[in-house]
Amino acid sequence: MLKPAYLLILAVLICLGCSSNESAIPEYTVLKGATVFDGTGSQIEKAVMIIKDGKIQNIGGPKTEIPKRSEVIDVTGKFITPGLVDSHIHFAQTGFFDGRPDVVDLRDSLNFEDLQQDLRANPSSYYETYLRSGITAVYDVGGFEWSIERQTMAENNLSAPHVATAGPLISGYPETTLDFFNTASEKQMLYLDSPETGRSAVRRHSELGSTGIKVWGLILNDSTFMQSVRAVADETKKQGNQLIVHSTSLDQAKEALRLGAKVLVHSVDDQEIDDEFIQLAKANDVIYLPTLTVVRGYYEAYKSLKELRKVNAPNDVLDDRITAHLQSSTVYESQLPDNFNLDGRITGFGNFLGGYEAIMAGNLKKVHEAGITIAVATDAGNPGTYHGFSIYDEMIAMQAAGIPATDLITMATKNGAIAMKRSADFGTLTKGKMADLIVLDQDPSKDIANMKSITHVMRGGLLKLVNKAFH
Ligand SMILES: [Zn+2]
Repeated sequence: MLKPAYLLILAVLICLGCSSNESAIPEYTVLKGATVFDGTGSQIEKAVMIIKDGKIQNIGGPKTEIPKRSEVIDVTGKFITPGLVDSHIHFAQTGFFDGRPDVVDLRDSLNFEDLQQDLRANPSSYYETYLRSGITAVYDVGGFEWSIERQTMAENNLSAPHVATAGPLISGYPETTLDFFNTASEKQMLYLDSPETGRSAVRRHSELGSTGIKVWGLILNDSTFMQSVRAVADETKKQGNQLIVHSTSLDQAKEALRLGAKVLVHSVDDQEIDDEFIQLAKANDVIYLPTLTVVRGYYEAYKSLKELRKVNAPNDVLDDRITAHLQSSTVYESQLPDNFNLDGRITGFGNFLGGYEAIMAGNLKKVHEAGITIAVATDAGNPGTYHGFSIYDEMIAMQAAGIPATDLITMATKNGAIAMKRSADFGTLTKGKMADLIVLDQDPSKDIANMKSITHVMRGGLLKLVNKAFH
C-alpha cells in the first residue's frame, strides 16, 4: 500500500497532467481560446466552449465564466467548426468498381455477394475514415434495408458518425440494370412496376425508420411510371417522410419539385436553371446537394484501370479496402467485359467533363444567390469518390464555383443536419447541441481547403487526435 506522502505526490503529478481548476475529477471539458465558426454564420473570437455530458453547456466570448471542476484545454490560435456532415454517401459502395457492377462488371474477380456481406458486417473502417476526416454525421441516401439499422447502432457509438439512411431506392429503370445492385437475398434497388408497389415500399421503409424515400431517376415520357411515382410521393407525404429524388436534368428536377421533393441529391447538369426552378425550389424549401465532383471521380477511376492512381488522403485516412484496390487497380484492365471500350470511355469523359462541370458550377452560384438551402454532399462510395476525405475536394470545387468559404462552413454543418432531419441535435455549436466539432490549425473562412488542417475531432464530447488510427 502507498504511504500518504506518495499519494500526495501522485495527486500533484495527475494535476500537472491536466489543468483542472480543482483536483477533483473534472465535470466539464472547456475548449478555450479558439476562433469558433458556430455553423450559423457567426464567428466567436477567443471563444470559451463548455461541454458536459456530450453536450454544449455554454459557449461565448473570452469573458464566459468557466465553472469549477473543469478540464480546460487551451486551443488558442486554432479554429473550430461543428463536425462536418456529408449529406450523400452510400455504405454499400466502396469507391471502386466492385460496388458498382452496373458500371463495370468485374464480378468474376470481385465477388459482389461477399463484398456486400462484408460491408454489412464491418462498418467500423468507414466510421473511422469519416471521423478522422472531421465528418461526424453522414446521410446514406440509398442502400440495403440493413443500412436503416445503422441509424440507431451508430447513434450510441462515439467511434461512429451519426447516420441517417433512406434504405432501398425506388426506380423505373430496367430490372436488368437494377439487379446489378441486388444480391440473391436482398435488394437495394426496387423496380417500381405499379402505384401499389410504390406505396407498400414507402410504408415498409417508413416503418423501419428510414430517413427519406429516394427515387432513382424520373422517366418523364413514361406515363405509367410517372403515375406510380406520384403514388410514391403521395404515400411519402402520408407517412410523414421526406421525398428524395435523383433528377439531374432541369425538366426532371422541376418535376421532382412538383412532386414535393425535399432533397435534390444532384445538381441540375444539362442546362442553366430558370426562374420556374427557383420558384419551385423555394416553395418546397428544398435542400440542393450539388455533388460537383462525383463524375470526375468516375473519370479518375477509369484511368486507374490503366495506370495506378496516387491519392493524397490527409492524415492517411484511406480505408483498407480502397487502399488495396488502388494498389492493384491496373490488374482489372485485362478482366474487363469483352465489349467494354475503356479508352473510349476515358476519352468521352475527358471531352465532356469541362462543359458539364461549368453548367453545374453556374447553377450552384444561381441557387446560392436565390437563397435556396444547399448542403455539402459527395456521393461517396461511387468509383473514385472515397469515403471520408472526398468532402474536401467537394468543398474546394464549391468554393471555386463562387461560394464564399464562410457560407460553405454552414453548408457543410448546419445544412447537412437539416437534410438529415437532425438539426435539433447537431450541426451548430450552440447551447444544448451535441458537442460534435473539429479543431483546425488554419482558418477555414479564408480558404475552405484549410479544412484539411484538421488536428482533432470531437463526437459527443469525446476529443480525439485524427493523425493516427483510433485503435
Ligand atoms: Zn448516390
